[in-house]
Amino acid sequence: MLKTRFTEMFGVEHPIVQGGMQWVGRAELTSAVANAGALGFLTGLTQPTPEDLVKEVKRCREMTDKPFGVNLTILPTLVPRPYDEYVDAIIQSGVKIVETAGNNPKPFLPKFREAGIKVIHKCTSVRHGITAERIGVDAISMDGFECAGHPGEDDIPNLVLLPAAANVIKIPMIASGGFADARGLVAALALGCEGMNMGTRFMATKEAPIHQKVKEAIVAADERSTSLLFRTMRNTSRVFGNSVAKKAIEMEHEGKTIAEIGPLVSGQRGKVVYETGDLEHGIWSAGTCMGLIQDIPTVKELIDRIVREAKEIIGKRLAPLAA
Ligand code: NAD
Repeated sequence: MLKTRFTEMFGVEHPIVQGGMQWVGRAELTSAVANAGALGFLTGLTQPTPEDLVKEVKRCREMTDKPFGVNLTILPTLVPRPYDEYVDAIIQSGVKIVETAGNNPKPFLPKFREAGIKVIHKCTSVRHGITAERIGVDAISMDGFECAGHPGEDDIPNLVLLPAAANVIKIPMIASGGFADARGLVAALALGCEGMNMGTRFMATKEAPIHQKVKEAIVAADERSTSLLFRTMRNTSRVFGNSVAKKAIEMEHEGKTIAEIGPLVSGQRGKVVYETGDLEHGIWSAGTCMGLIQDIPTVKELIDRIVREAKEIIGKRLAPLAA
């Protein structure tokens, strides 16, 4: 057991989180994570409507009796999404843990609190973490520049971001971005966190509901295989560095608008990548930790390995140094 304030607060066995991932965070993966003793999140916006989200929670519950949550990401989208209705769907579904991301969750907190839902807010800066703590979230997932998806605009990697945040934030903090193995987990604990969040690492597991070719591409890639999109629009997104990402960056630098770039980078095209394994069909999120991923285990094999090796690092390598 690696017992932390996080495992106590959320009633899970291991201090490991599978965070929200567009198109990937479905019942197959999230239930496997829950069954392996970690905390998984279904991705709210992956479901086309709030009603579909309620059904997905039900489907996940049929696959596990352990705790899991729902991620709600509030960032610019090409087609407006009814966030309030997704909030109501989350409450109606009966889940008791939510991961918010992308924007200040303050407007939704009273409803979540009333429903007895605990909120983990994903932040990419110390100042946003301080605000999240002040408005009353239960825990923070602090996301460094290494991460897949949206790393914010400050470009601070976790070796500085996490201890800087830990200096001022008192509620439990999960380290996110660049984490893929036991060394990351031990480092997260050493840097002042109570656990770690992984996204890309969980994509390369047997249960992840995406095409085998995507998983193999993650294994084949290294830490330099990502591209940063939407920098000029202050909506930076780290994605797999394929030809579509490179074309979109070119268009950005030519001054093209999101309306012009949108058809190329839409999530709908990324969804096709995951369904067909055509890696060049659209953009798809991936983090720098691809440089650490060398296999496609089951979720349980992955989590058991990380916990076992983390204990070995702490007990066999680190503890003797202090003896
Ligand atoms: P989408 O098809 O609506 O948009 C595709 C991409 O374009 C997204 O990255 C989006 O943020 C960006 N975008 C849209 N409108 C924009 C604007 N006006 N200015 C700048 N950028 C703009 O998105 P999707 O792929 O269906 O994803 C749904 C939501 O989930 C989006 O908010 C997306 O950003 C988010 N997401 C988050 C992660 C993550 O790491 N947490 C990963 C993938 C997607």
